[in-house]
Amino acid sequence: MRSWPSLTLDPVEKNLAFPTLSLFNSYRQIVEPVSNDGPFTMYVCGITPYDATHLGHAATYLSFDLIQRYLLASGREVRFIENVTDIDDPLFERAHRDGVDWSELGAGQIDLFRSDMAALRVLPPKVFESVSEAMPRIIELIEKLIRSGKTYRLGSDIYLDGALLDGYTILPMALDQAVELFASRGGDPSREGKHHPLDPLLWRASAFGEPSWESSFGSGRPGWHIECNAIAMALGEEESFTPRQWSIDLQGGGSDLFFPHHFMTALQARAIQGRNFAHHYVHAGMIAYQGEKMSKSRGNLVFVSRLIASGVDPMAIRIALMLGHYRSDREWSDEVLQRGETLLTRLRNVLGRQGLTNYRPLMSEIIADLANDLDTPSALKKLDLYLDRSLKPEFAGNEEMSPGALSRFLDSVLGLAL
Ligand code: ZN
Repeated sequence: MRSWPSLTLDPVEKNLAFPTLSLFNSYRQIVEPVSNDGPFTMYVCGITPYDATHLGHAATYLSFDLIQRYLLASGREVRFIENVTDIDDPLFERAHRDGVDWSELGAGQIDLFRSDMAALRVLPPKVFESVSEAMPRIIELIEKLIRSGKTYRLGSDIYLDGALLDGYTILPMALDQAVELFASRGGDPSREGKHHPLDPLLWRASAFGEPSWESSFGSGRPGWHIECNAIAMALGEEESFTPRQWSIDLQGGGSDLFFPHHFMTALQARAIQGRNFAHHYVHAGMIAYQGEKMSKSRGNLVFVSRLIASGVDPMAIRIALMLGHYRSDREWSDEVLQRGETLLTRLRNVLGRQGLTNYRPLMSEIIADLANDLDTPSALKKLDLYLDRSLKPEFAGNEEMSPGALSRFLDSVLGLAL
């Protein structure tokens, strides 16, 4: 489907060195350099379009935007796909509750998401694809799995037989904890007849009123996890890659996707391709509001579009989100937003001058912070100290240090349009 408009980024100054980006790899639990082999392939799990776009979404997609920006600024080619889960229980439940057509509800929310992402200067993915668009490839993939003998049928539903793949010997947590989490995040561990409680559903018969697709193995709709395998395969089968142990360089999303979603995608990838799915698994922390994780069910969502409509500058939202580290669960508040607004105002004041204090060391420091697992709190702290120095009354700007170069740099790596 249509992505949102791309942005032209000015190249950063040639004499700036960009160290290899290191990111926390959730499954290995360490910060390590990203793969350096060929174009960078990144797949980010997108929204289910029924409650877009709250600040939790914004924080997640901003994190992957920073990754893309860093890699582009360092001269790397980035191939980035993001999906939209437009076939999903919460969307159907919401549409049913409100008496609206699920596809209309989805289309409206996707439009809102696009405009919010554009306002926040999040660079668009190269491919932005919904599950309904990818259906022929999803069906093809399930057919392939059925032919391989790694699935079983339960009524008209089809499951992957995870134990055949030794899938559950490498769980990232104790089995009982995994089962509990699986149940709370859309799984069906206690369904009678399953070979293993964690076996992921690949295909199910649609309920009345839900969309349904024809396939050689019955009509219905896909389970949640298989969509990302199918959509991401466009990245993993690129020409001219040297053979390697994984399909793509990075799979990302919010930390609530760590398990089961990303685990199941990886399990299915081993069944399909016989290798690991991603080199890096990167997860953004959750955003809380009024003491609780922001979520539809708790009714404590803060929407990007409403903040902007109330007159808040999207760049202040962007800064406010970057004041916290992308991996940390953190609280949104008026005070956090205020800090973002203050920094933005100070920055614009300084950039409005004729000449600035030397900002080359600042640029190198910001690059080093970003390379170190996207340490934006540290980078913004250094920017703030630079503004302190620049705003001192006795300071006289250096005419040779033009504000333009700093402004372009801050847009390239931090996405700040000033
Ligand atoms: Zn996904």
